[in-house]
Amino acid sequence: MGDSRITKVVIVGGGTAGWMAAAALSRTMDHLSIRLVESDAIGTVGVGEATIPAIRLFNALIGIDENEFIRETGGTFKLGIRFHDWGRIGDTYMHAFGQIGRSLGMLPFQQYWLRGRNEGVAGRLGDYSLNETAAHANRFARLPRIPDTGLDGIAYAFHFDAALYATWLRKIAEAAGVERTEGKIAGVRRNGQSGRVEAVVLDNGTAIEGELFIDCSGFRALLIEGALETEFEDWTHWLPCDRAIAVPSENAGPARPYTQAIAHKAGWQWRIPLQHRTGNGHVFCSDFISEDEATATLLANVEGRPLADPRTLRFRTGMRAQAWNANVVALGLASGFLEPLESTSIHLIQNGIARLLAHFPGRDFDAANIDAYNRRVRFDYERIRDFVILHYHANQRTDAPFWIRCREMGIPETLAQKIELFKGQGQIVRESDELFIEIGWFQVLTGQNIMPGGYHPMADQLTGDELAGFFADIETIVARTASHLPGHEEFIAQHCAAGVPA
Ligand SMILES: Cc1cc2nc3c(=O)[nH]c(=O)nc-3n(C[C@H](O)[C@H](O)[C@H](O)COP(=O)(O)OP(=O)(O)OC[C@H]3O[C@@H](n4cnc5c(N)ncnc54)[C@H](O)[C@@H]3O)c2cc1C
Repeated sequence: MGDSRITKVVIVGGGTAGWMAAAALSRTMDHLSIRLVESDAIGTVGVGEATIPAIRLFNALIGIDENEFIRETGGTFKLGIRFHDWGRIGDTYMHAFGQIGRSLGMLPFQQYWLRGRNEGVAGRLGDYSLNETAAHANRFARLPRIPDTGLDGIAYAFHFDAALYATWLRKIAEAAGVERTEGKIAGVRRNGQSGRVEAVVLDNGTAIEGELFIDCSGFRALLIEGALETEFEDWTHWLPCDRAIAVPSENAGPARPYTQAIAHKAGWQWRIPLQHRTGNGHVFCSDFISEDEATATLLANVEGRPLADPRTLRFRTGMRAQAWNANVVALGLASGFLEPLESTSIHLIQNGIARLLAHFPGRDFDAANIDAYNRRVRFDYERIRDFVILHYHANQRTDAPFWIRCREMGIPETLAQKIELFKGQGQIVRESDELFIEIGWFQVLTGQNIMPGGYHPMADQLTGDELAGFFADIETIVARTASHLPGHEEFIAQHCAAGVPA
């Protein structure tokens, strides 16, 4: 058994993907010798600052102290994403993390809400969400449950500085034995018979050999595409945005505990609050707006003074036909890209790592194992893709050709089925371990103004008075709990302010 174990892993690239992989592998498999190669001259993509709650599982896997992590990365807490002008201009809604209200009997809360809405006894969906109520009030605390109520508490993720995050992960990985080589890879050596990668070769001629190669080289995809020519499935016809302009700015007010996603005429703008600055970016489709106009739109909508020149990032949405090919596993931007609307790229890195750990190969690189990995990664990508498309497709805007095109475009069958099912009785089926939970879909579907024609008949089991009481109780508890939480900035100042020693 000892002979078949892989011991030499080479990670190509030191962005978020490379250092996440290095930290996770070094913390979980002592017997591995791990070398990471990165080029300071090439640098990293430098964006990727909003996350979803599952990142806390990754933090637990690598065993870090959460307050220290936030301090070191200038981080803030994130309770969800607030969408502006997506369905129609003037609309706002929130995709808040966590559950809303509570289920009763076999029915989820949203089924009662649909009935209550019809009968005029239910308020805004967000009034029953502690996350949304706290977000609007700029409040935060770690509160897994609301005591003595049966209601979930706060579900949270983070915003952080991408460069500081990579530095922080590097510290963890190097402390766990990962060796780093600075240098530019100029070539790849492959085995003539098996086709597997044997070594990457730096521009000074040094060859770095390995058994398993993890391609984290970003959009360059040096190994998975450059060496192995693995096909890229293009999803631009469903997600047509292909560029982003990014600019950091001074904070113009208290850091909000949520990301903002503001729709513009041919795309949307993110606002990500950090402790020391705000990250801003305008994601757009270059068929409908020039870079100059996109930059001007961004700068006109940045709240504080810009801290650097705006820079352009170009991308193509889609995924590798095989994220794992031969002895190369691609993670991060090398494996595919879904635009950042629901902050899922770092999550896909984390998922790729978790799946790699579950399917960690032997030296024979068993084809069945590789196929199983690729199937699971595809499932992860496709379900998230559908969720992101929903935001674009389900719009009623008539002011701009981009939005009309998004509304009229074809959509994947899997998404079409989900919408059709929902339109009947508001049902949502979460398949297998797909990422977004039912209430997440519900918030976006209704936020984009898709309302079901009916609701599940079991919601009629409550009398009208019981239904009204059910809503009133939850709303009261949520409002009272939120009002007792500390301010978001106050919480950070107390527990995890950047620059404050541990
Ligand atoms: C506009 C935009 C916004 C985004 N926002 C979010 C977000 O809010 N949330 C989120 O989860 N994700 C977001 N992402 C995605 C996120 O940025 C990436 O998933 C994440 O940063 C991982 O990038 P990476 O490590 O794969 O690539 P990179 O950061 O590009 O790193 C590539 C590494 O490979 C090295 N390299 C490349 N070529 C060579 C070579 N020849 N020799 C040696 N080294 C080499 C580079 O030096 C670098 O270290 C966003 C992406 C974009 C484009």
